[in-house]
Amino acid sequence: MTEFCVDCWNRINHLQKTEKDYILSKELDLCKGCGKFRHVIVRERMGFWSGFLNEYEKTADA
Ligand SMILES: [Zn+2]
Repeated sequence: MTEFCVDCWNRINHLQKTEKDYILSKELDLCKGCGKFRHVIVRERMGFWSGFLNEYEKTADA
């Protein structure tokens, strides 16, 4: 999803998220924000579940 660590993502987007709000990469990756090898954000946890629920609702309507 991104190539940013949580710290940089928060700074860029003015968020107060924690590592628990995101699925982070298992391997260390180069963060484009701070230029260090960090666990970068793969996806947002809430985004995954809201996407899942949206798909479910579409199926239920059909
Ligand atoms: Zn960073």
